[in-house]
Formats: sequence, C-alpha cells, structure tokens
Amino acid sequence: MSGFNFDVITLFPKAFELINNLGVITRALDKNLIDVNLHDLREYGEGSYRQVDDKPYGGGAGMVLKPEPIYKAYESIRKSPNSKTLLMTPQGKVLKQKDLARWSTLDQIIIICGQYEGFDERIRCLADEEISIGDYVLSGGEIPAISIINGLTRLLPGTLGDPDSLVDESHNSSLLEYPQYTRPLTFKDMKVPDILVSGNHEEIKSWRRKKSFERTLERRSDLISNENYKKSPQSKRIIKENNQFMKFRIGNEYDIYPDW
Ligand code: SAH
Repeated sequence: MSGFNFDVITLFPKAFELINNLGVITRALDKNLIDVNLHDLREYGEGSYRQVDDKPYGGGAGMVLKPEPIYKAYESIRKSPNSKTLLMTPQGKVLKQKDLARWSTLDQIIIICGQYEGFDERIRCLADEEISIGDYVLSGGEIPAISIINGLTRLLPGTLGDPDSLVDESHNSSLLEYPQYTRPLTFKDMKVPDILVSGNHEEIKSWRRKKSFERTLERRSDLISNENYKKSPQSKRIIKENNQFMKFRIGNEYDIYPDW
C-alpha cells in the first residue's frame, strides 16, 4: 500500500468520478498521496439478480441493504493495522474538522455507504465510528463519503501547495476565518480595508484575529465555548464591544489561542 488508502463500499461507484475533477484532490491522486479503491456492492449481491436489498421485517416503506453482501465486500478488503471503518448514517456523530485531523494520521479508512431506507442493523458492528455529515437526510452515503475523502486529503502533507493555508482557516481553531480580499482595491464602491494595505504585519494579524472572533460571535456563537476566551483581555474587550451577541454557550471543548 502506498499513500493513504480510502476503501469505499458502495452501490454507486460512478458517483466517485467526481473525485477526479476536484482540483487539489485530483492532484493528490496523481501524486499517489491517496488511493481510492471502490468496492462495488453489486458484485457481492446474491443470486442471478445480484440482490443487495430486501423488504424490512415488520413492514414499512422502502428497501433495506442486506447484511451478507456488505460483510462479503468488507471481508474482501485488505486491512492495514492503522485503519478505521466509518459507517455513513444520519444517525451518526456529526462530522467535525477535528475528526478529519484525527483520522489523517491513519493510513487507511474504509467507508460503508448506505442507500434506500438504510441498512440492516447488524451492519453497524463493522464500524469503528458512525458518521453523519449534518442533520439532514441524503439518498445515499456517497456524497458524505466524498466529503470525508475531500476534507481529509487536503490535510495530508503534500496535497496543498502552501500548508500555511490550513492554519487560519475556519474551524481549524474553532473560529471562523477573517474576511479576505484580493485585487482590485476598489470594486463597485467597495474598498479593501486600509489596514490590509498598510504593510504593518503585526496590526494586520491583530485585525484578523479581531475580525475572526467578531465573525464567529455573530454567526456561530455556539463555537465559542472556551473559558480561555473570556479570560483574555483581548477577547473580553471584543465581547464587550459585541455584547449584543453575548448569548453563547458555555463549555470547555476547545483550547485555542493560548497566546491571547
Ligand atoms: N432511513 C434512514 C436514512 C436512510 S438515507 C434513517 O432514518 O436513518 C440512506 C443512506 O444515505 C443512509 O444509510 C446513509 O448511508 C446515507 N446518508 C443519508 N444522510 C446522511 C447524512 N446526513 N450523513 C451521512 N450519511 C447519510
């Protein structure tokens, strides 16, 4: 095995052609930083119709994926000792950036995609983790799987041209990113803030932190749950300036900006 291996069990392998058209992810494939191995569930189906689904016991709408084909597909995959199996389900833990970071130190991820009304309950015991990509229901696990492959691959060394671009971005530190501008300086009467063209790097850094914090308070105050924020003089001042957004939750999940 070379690079990071994604092994995906899916009824719709063609959906993964998207990965060949996703910029940096395609480059990671070309550079052999990742391999995406697709395991077509249909090939493990039963009988001459290659049946993979059946009606639910107890009645109800739709079809449910049978356990045998998924187990057979799973058993056919060569597993590395440093591997995890993820099951795509809207009933799972909601995916966070810190999960992608945690998995990026593995060398293989096996992803099981559901379809139709879902899957037989006995499939759950194959999974190390059950993952949802948000509180909504899609028709299959392929788009969630592609999201994980995409998000994880951009964290692997060598994928992005400039690894610094990972440092400041939204959700890396639990804060959203500050506003970004590029040329032209004025566009439809909207001017780039003077500070960004001042050349004063210390002030730019501090302006960006302030904006990042304000933006998070405004849009996602649920992300600001660290006592550290409230202790630091800078954040106290910004919180005071923004006291209309003071409805944030209190918790201890994040540990960020210790230099504040
Ligand atoms: N009836 C099921 C939903 C089935 S949706 C239930 O209520 O739980 C069909 C398949 O799409 C699921 O098995 C899962 O693999 C995938 N899927 C749908 N929404 C998803 C989400 N938000 N996150 C991850 N996978 C999802």
